[in-house]
Amino acid sequence: AIDFKWIRDNKNDVAANINNRKSNADLELVLELYERLSTLQKEVERLRGERNAVANKMKGKLEPSERQKLIDEGKNLKEQLMTLEEDLVQLTDELQQEAQCIPNMTHPDVGNPGKFSFPVKDHLQLGKELDLFDFDAAAEVSGAKFYYLKNEAVMLEMALINWTLSEVVKRGFTPLTTPEIVRSSVVEKCGFQPRGANTQVYSIESSDQCLIGTAEIPVGGIHMDSILADSVLPLKYVAYSHCFRTEAGAAGMATRGLYRVHQFSKVEMFILCRPEDSNTYHEELIGVEEYLFSSLGLHFKTLDMASGDLGAPAYRKYDVEAWMPGLGRYGEISSASNCTDYQSRRLGIRYRPSSSESLTNPKKGKANLSPTQFVHTLNATACAVPRMIVCLLENFQQEDGSVIIPHPLRPFMGGRELIIPKS
Ligand code: AMP
Repeated sequence: AIDFKWIRDNKNDVAANINNRKSNADLELVLELYERLSTLQKEVERLRGERNAVANKMKGKLEPSERQKLIDEGKNLKEQLMTLEEDLVQLTDELQQEAQCIPNMTHPDVGNPGKFSFPVKDHLQLGKELDLFDFDAAAEVSGAKFYYLKNEAVMLEMALINWTLSEVVKRGFTPLTTPEIVRSSVVEKCGFQPRGANTQVYSIESSDQCLIGTAEIPVGGIHMDSILADSVLPLKYVAYSHCFRTEAGAAGMATRGLYRVHQFSKVEMFILCRPEDSNTYHEELIGVEEYLFSSLGLHFKTLDMASGDLGAPAYRKYDVEAWMPGLGRYGEISSASNCTDYQSRRLGIRYRPSSSESLTNPKKGKANLSPTQFVHTLNATACAVPRMIVCLLENFQQEDGSVIIPHPLRPFMGGRELIIPKS
């Protein structure tokens, strides 16, 4: 049964929850029906009591006139009761119907995006007012979809990178910075296409080298053509690098400002592990992402991507999308893929499982070594800086034009709490 008493006693919370969940439940009507029903129930009970009292009196010895009076009274009560009981059924029905529309209460960690009591600005507008970017100069110097970050945006980028690295390193990942130019053959072995009309990869003219689109490529390459000892697995890396993408064919998608650019900074997690462990590490990676994004106070959802959106190397992929008020929708901020042995087969990364035989009998020689197997590889975004800046500016803007810096980043920004308009 629905706990109407609780709903009545927690009216304000229930009303806020209905509003947040965009439900069309009519709480006022439910409470009014509930009050009417309670009053009616009391009245029905009172009449039933009276009717019983009359019935009891009839059991005794009575004068005929008195008996007649009681019969009339009983009849009257019965009629009244019948009408009220009909009302009771109808009202109960009505109340149930209205109350069905009230949603469950909401876990406090569930996000509630898009609540602003003033008109929101997008990150471009905020960036202009706070003097954080220069797209015009970048267009002249480099071309479209390049940018200069300025002032607090630079500090924000550094803070995001440093905080993210420190959090992920705490979890046992080895930090790396990587080459940002790699051989085309390594790009290919990681499952990307360095050539062709729609390639996302910038190639360096008259060389066999490319700019990396993601640190996944140089990190994937570290152990290529090698046989790893069972005991070193899992290998967990967290790499900071720039990423370069042609964004060929990206027209029509959200391309304004920092959302889709040709060059950006990214902190990327990468794991090499035994095949039987890759599902577990995939869950661990998405767990780290969710920890990072919720620590920053973002509203996000995690999607288990459909086959058409997996790309070539992934066996399974989870994307995280965060609320972006300027876009008025959720936008992708990260991606976590289990590539199983797709990359390791091409890169030639094997390991030798330690069989119980070779462990207990180390002197038995090569014949007794268990056969090598390909490792599984996984990669996941810890922080793709530009989209994170979009999210932070747009979600934490205030009416006076300032932007609140999330708590975890403050120690990395000299304790700053706010980005404030200059004039
Ligand atoms: P991906 O390696 O394609 O899964 O991208 C990882 C993350 O980088 C995405 O989830 C986005 O947050 C970000 N990202 C990808 N492409 C761009 C781009 N062109 N500009 C800015 N951020 C991007």
